[in-house]
Amino acid sequence: MRDRTLQTALVVGAILASVTASSQDGAAQVIRSGPPTCKAIALTFDMCPVRDGAGYDAPLIDTLVSKHIPATFFLSGRWVATHEAEVRAMLSVPFFEIGTHGQIHAHLPMLDADRQRKEIQGPVTLLQTHYGRSAPLFRPPYGEYNDATVEIAQALGLRFILWNAVSGDPDPQLARTRMVDNLKATVRNGSIIVFHANGRGRHTRAVVEDLYEDLVLTKGLQLVTVSTLLDGCKPGQTRDGTERSH
Ligand SMILES: [Zn+2]
Repeated sequence: MRDRTLQTALVVGAILASVTASSQDGAAQVIRSGPPTCKAIALTFDMCPVRDGAGYDAPLIDTLVSKHIPATFFLSGRWVATHEAEVRAMLSVPFFEIGTHGQIHAHLPMLDADRQRKEIQGPVTLLQTHYGRSAPLFRPPYGEYNDATVEIAQALGLRFILWNAVSGDPDPQLARTRMVDNLKATVRNGSIIVFHANGRGRHTRAVVEDLYEDLVLTKGLQLVTVSTLLDGCKPGQTRDGTERSH
């Protein structure tokens, strides 16, 4: 009887463990930050489609290039389709990493699985066929997703990247000093910060320069791409340590 009870307990335990493991796996596929042991952070910039204007924050990109700041960009398919020269310029910078941001910047949870798959796959295919580049990082528009979004991204071999620090740069009411203060209070080791580089960000370049001054030059944190943050960061590594760029 005791054996039977033990056996039942073991079976129930195994079932519970497998349920817990699968739900943890599901949660683990949505990445909001890198390891907290890593003295580095990733600046990320979304390229959501725009109806008017250049759709490209050239002064910001020039600043990143001139200061050699690694950055990760999430390009929507509609943006890629109207910015060929800009896409080529970004792809030519060795310390820039390119991911995707949906085809038309749809609210993915409102779509069925087939339409979500097309939305997610669109810019990945475009970058592969037209530019010969694989883009294995994916960020859903508005940060919105459901179970199907996570499953589709995984099936397509994409890493699902959100953020744990918000710049708030599309908000016209937010002053530069307030944005910087908010970020200084939020950002910690392994943080992924979300900005925009499609010309819709207010104060984006100035805030990046302020953060560079504070986090990198004063506090010794390293700025890295998302992939380096997740795969290449050694515990305690600083900007003086070995840097991988790819
Ligand atoms: Zn967006």
